[in-house]
Amino acid sequence: MPAIIMAERRDGCGLCIDACRGNAIRIVRSKAVIEEMLCMECGACVRACQNNAVVIEW
Ligand code: SF4
Repeated sequence: MPAIIMAERRDGCGLCIDACRGNAIRIVRSKAVIEEMLCMECGACVRACQNNAVVIEW
């Protein structure tokens, strides 16, 4: 499963974007959105997020 961002926890900080080597995350209307087809399921965004807003269901 690709990474998922929980909308209610997003704050637009961009830490997940900086962490993503696959360029799978972009900002849409000030909020991070993951492009599922580009996600490599590496977990870097999960580790980078200080709000625990990103999850991957293994
Ligand atoms: S799991 Fe990895 S590839 Fe997927 S969005 Fe997060 S950082 Fe990017």
